[in-house]
Amino acid sequence: MAELRWATGTHEGQVREVNEDAAFANPYLFVVADGMGGHLAGEVASSIAINTLEAHLDANGTNSLDDLVAAISIANQTIFTDAHENPDHSGMGTTITAIAVITDRYDGEALGVANVGDSRIYLLRHNRLRQVTIDHSFVQELIAEGAISRDEARNHPRRNIVTRGLGIESAVRVDSWTMPLIRGDRYVLCSDGLSDYVTEDVITGALLRHPEDPAAAVVELIDLANQAGGPDNITVVLVDVLDGDDPPDPTEEIDVVPAWFDDDEDVTADTLIVTDPDPEADIGGADDEQRHEIPSPATANDDGSPKPTRKQRRAQKKAAKAAKKAGKKRTNRVVQMFFFVGIAALLIGGFALLAGWARSGYFVAFDEAGQVTIYQGREQSVLWFNPTEEAHGPFRDELDQPSVERVEARPNFGSFANAQRFITDQLSVKETEEPEPSEPASATTGAPTSEPSPVVTTSPASVGG
Ligand code: MN
Repeated sequence: MAELRWATGTHEGQVREVNEDAAFANPYLFVVADGMGGHLAGEVASSIAINTLEAHLDANGTNSLDDLVAAISIANQTIFTDAHENPDHSGMGTTITAIAVITDRYDGEALGVANVGDSRIYLLRHNRLRQVTIDHSFVQELIAEGAISRDEARNHPRRNIVTRGLGIESAVRVDSWTMPLIRGDRYVLCSDGLSDYVTEDVITGALLRHPEDPAAAVVELIDLANQAGGPDNITVVLVDVLDGDDPPDPTEEIDVVPAWFDDDEDVTADTLIVTDPDPEADIGGADDEQRHEIPSPATANDDGSPKPTRKQRRAQKKAAKAAKKAGKKRTNRVVQMFFFVGIAALLIGGFALLAGWARSGYFVAFDEAGQVTIYQGREQSVLWFNPTEEAHGPFRDELDQPSVERVEARPNFGSFANAQRFITDQLSVKETEEPEPSEPASATTGAPTSEPSPVVTTSPASVGG
């Protein structure tokens, strides 16, 4: 049998006259229930819940997690039936949060944790308090949707609305977990009369002040809630695990913080499911998934068409959110694309300007063969834009000295026409000596003998514009 040490405490608080909360502890079962419903009915509901669990779980710790969940389902059925048969109890219900020593098929002895409603179980390990259960409450849905923060939830006017409870519907979905027995772990089960009015930091402080005395810690926690006004009934059950596995290294342990604590909304929507009744389900028999798939009368419209269950509505919301997210991503991609297109346009534009500049203008010089040539482009080649030969004029040895010097000055021109004009107007051919007939060179040049050479031939390689 697991070696545990525990203490319980409950108090009506500073405002309410009756205490509808209930606490229970024996060596294998620890329960907190927060009843609701007028005229003492809440008190009835929470007592039925605890009595049913005690009656349906064996006292030798050989229960399974399924047994715990089944006992809670039976408690739900019992409260639901009582509420419908007894007008005084109409509308009553209760939360339930429980830890049972269980024998797990794989892990051997362990702790089974189950929860319905907004009572909580925290785990103190390595001096750090973490919430194990997930509230089934309106504000929890708002937190999960990112509408409010956990701090805002604490003071939210509608924080008392639970979205799942025992006795509300004929069947109930129970959250359940298996926790290993870790030496030194301290579990806190409490009603919202504590958690709504005392911050987790303050709860942690009280727990750490009484490491060996759970009863003193319970007293201090109840005092703290009363000092905070005690607007609600306050119930606390502490369970210390005295023997078990070594605590995992703080840096290696798997975090038990509920999934919704994460930013990942996908996980949240899966873990946060509200009341999903199904009267046809065999209570405790069919597993949860089956139960959700059987249509129930409560999920049909008047015309018989199926009405989306809350689970489906949540799934739709989730899908809408995912679509919105995807839309945002798409927008980001579009923005990104425009950014890159913009950069590309700038680069291309800059390149075009540079190319234009590199190719703009003309100059006149002798080419390698000594012929006057009009080049397009810059004298110094820019990038890979070499000046290109656009047209040719007379050869060097045909020109008089001043003309040769003018060409050697490599004059620049803004247009091809100006370059042509330079050749025709500024260059003059030498006074021809009579070419010796025997000299083939003058013949092969094809140069006119006595006339200046105004002829400018456009090279075939000429590039227009
Ligand atoms: Mn309460």
